[in-house]
Amino acid sequence: MMLSTLQRIVESVNQAPEFNVALDTMVRNVKAALGTDVCSVYLADHEQREFVLMATDGLNLVEGERVVLEFGEGLISLAAEREEPLNIADASTHPNFKLVEGLAEEPYRAMLVAPIIHQRQVLGVLAVQQKLARAFSSNEESFLVTLAAQLAAVVAHAEAKDLVSDQRSPWLRNLRAVAGAPGVAIGHAFIGKPLASLSAVVPRRTEQPMQEKHKFRKAVLKTRQDLRALAAQVAEYVAEDTLAIFDVYQGLLDAASLGNAVENKIKEGWQAQTAVKLVVDDFVSQFEDLDDSYLRERAVDVRDLGQRVLAHLQDSGNVTMEVPDQSILVAEEVTASMLASIPRHRLQGLVSLRGSPNSHAAIMARSMGVPAVFAVEDVPLNYLEDQYLIVDGYSGDVFINPPAQVLKEYQELLLDELELANLVDSNKNLAAETSDGIRVELQVNAGLNVDHNEGRGAHNGIGLYRTEIPFMMRERFPTETEQFELYREVFKNYRGQPVVMRTLDVGGDKPLPYFPIKEDNPFLGWRGIRMTLDHPEIFLVQVRAMLRANVGFDTLKILLPMITSVDEVDDATRLISQAYFEVRSELQQNGEEASLQRPQLGVMIEVPAILYQLDSIAQRVDFFSVGTNDLTQYLLAVDRNNPRVARLYEAYHPALLTVLQDIVASCNRLGKPVSVCGELAGDPGGALLLLAMGYRSLSMSGHNIDKIRWIVRQVEAPMLQVLLNQALTAKHPDEVRKVVSMKLESLGLGGFIRAGK
Ligand code: PEP
Ligand code: MG
Repeated sequence: MMLSTLQRIVESVNQAPEFNVALDTMVRNVKAALGTDVCSVYLADHEQREFVLMATDGLNLVEGERVVLEFGEGLISLAAEREEPLNIADASTHPNFKLVEGLAEEPYRAMLVAPIIHQRQVLGVLAVQQKLARAFSSNEESFLVTLAAQLAAVVAHAEAKDLVSDQRSPWLRNLRAVAGAPGVAIGHAFIGKPLASLSAVVPRRTEQPMQEKHKFRKAVLKTRQDLRALAAQVAEYVAEDTLAIFDVYQGLLDAASLGNAVENKIKEGWQAQTAVKLVVDDFVSQFEDLDDSYLRERAVDVRDLGQRVLAHLQDSGNVTMEVPDQSILVAEEVTASMLASIPRHRLQGLVSLRGSPNSHAAIMARSMGVPAVFAVEDVPLNYLEDQYLIVDGYSGDVFINPPAQVLKEYQELLLDELELANLVDSNKNLAAETSDGIRVELQVNAGLNVDHNEGRGAHNGIGLYRTEIPFMMRERFPTETEQFELYREVFKNYRGQPVVMRTLDVGGDKPLPYFPIKEDNPFLGWRGIRMTLDHPEIFLVQVRAMLRANVGFDTLKILLPMITSVDEVDDATRLISQAYFEVRSELQQNGEEASLQRPQLGVMIEVPAILYQLDSIAQRVDFFSVGTNDLTQYLLAVDRNNPRVARLYEAYHPALLTVLQDIVASCNRLGKPVSVCGELAGDPGGALLLLAMGYRSLSMSGHNIDKIRWIVRQVEAPMLQVLLNQALTAKHPDEVRKVVSMKLESLGLGGFIRAGK
């Protein structure tokens, strides 16, 4: 672990656009890797004869204050003087211990210090501290020593370029967040506040429930109007599937969701405002308790909606935010509706102190092309007020009042991006075809509620329609009619293009709120086809709805998830036949049977076992679709959602690449069409590798389509072959990544790797 962590840290330090960023990256990563409280870099200023604190993760600095230690003071100096590491379990008892001024800190007890030495000269120290006394292991010691040695080269280089001296004093504040939408934004922070605050409502009772009910209904009506207006406002610049977010909001306002519950509370004698607060708080805490990260994020939508209704109850609902040009929206929690209420051309980027990349605001930001970061490390909102910010939506970094050097780097990056975006856009109606004429079919992954026809460039229909979300957004299984209407909408919007609908794939990380499944290993449990075959009533209703909705369109293909063995295909086929004959006889009674087509059937390749049964399965189905997300997790035995093993979840793993190549070879031999619908298909490097292996059909999220089209158009077969050979002989995912990155860089597509991270 140490070696790869080392390499990773060294790599990210080396890639930092600017010296201070490199130091920040170093301390942050070392602190995380060693699981300690503090990591800092001090550099020696030989003229002033002092050590200056240059970067820290963990010490609380007083803003604007310079933190220095004179030569000879403290353990920092001791390590530098001795030119060897110091590993002290309880520094507070050491005679050389010195509390650093300007930090107002409790003393840290455990301390590990490694001198940064370049060509025999001590440039500074890398220091790790921990509140509790502990002995660092010899491994940890050599880890720090190794990093200090690597850092020495970086510092020496910066000193040679005279970058160090002018950056010693003003403290550069660099915040960490989670990247949510790619891109770089530069601008002034604009603080967004919700229109009304649910937490500020003091519970009050009423004697006139009828009047309160009336007020509530009026507020709901106004909120519905707002939502329609917001949807219309953003419709020009977001992909239409993203607009479905507003349908979700509207749905939540329905009687079946919030509406009835609020009215019941009013009947119990609560004022409308109080009733909204009570119901919303309750819903929010239910959502927040869920394991699924997508559903947990719906708590934000419910709260946002509640605050909109509340604002109308308080007559503050119509206040509009005056947002200056070139703004970066900063809020405690950026919501989809807050984002929609700001004119796109005013907005450079967004910073949401809370929330996650799964939030609807994040989905919208990606769709609008607004660089965004979420879950910023501990910082109060007002700290960012009036500040000039850089938001790096690739790495998750936020710079506050950045120095000229950093600003310049990012401005150049912005220009590059703009150029790239123009190129991509200018190609959006061209064929996805390599320069030597290999055609690739690009399809979209859809399923976020109702999907409208994409505002994107040309594509070949839906390669994967995930049916889980409509099942998850309800309080019970949707009826056949409800499903029929939903699917019919999809066929209508994609008229004339294939629509691959996957049967329900709940379980794993997608539980249904109304159908709890308690398992120790849900990903190895009752998931996808395993569950629906045990519940033919659910499966049959879904297939019937699909078949009926397909009448007159004939574009449906059915895809089965999580297939592990041949008999599952047989069982599913039997049920599909049953549904088909049932629907046909019903239509016959209406004199319409001639219009009922039997759809093609496909199987997802995502459980490794079926790699060895492809021949038998191929005799039973019409096509295959590779789900690289699950195939990666099941082949490598790495939970796709567990942050502890996130580093091991590697779609560039050489074993996975070999498997993917075997799959396409087998499908070609068997004469069965195969496509890839996992995330790898929308990844720039991944798409190239898949293309090189022989895949000719890729399905991806709508916002990747034009980018991948552009990349496909820049390559040709012989070069892909070379790339693939190199990738397949690599021994480590990082090696594969390097090979792929170099290829993309050499094609002038380097910007996409940044974008694809
Ligand atoms: C996959 O597993 O790669 C896939 C496309 O399906 P999902 O992400 O919905 O499991
Ligand atoms: Mg899957």
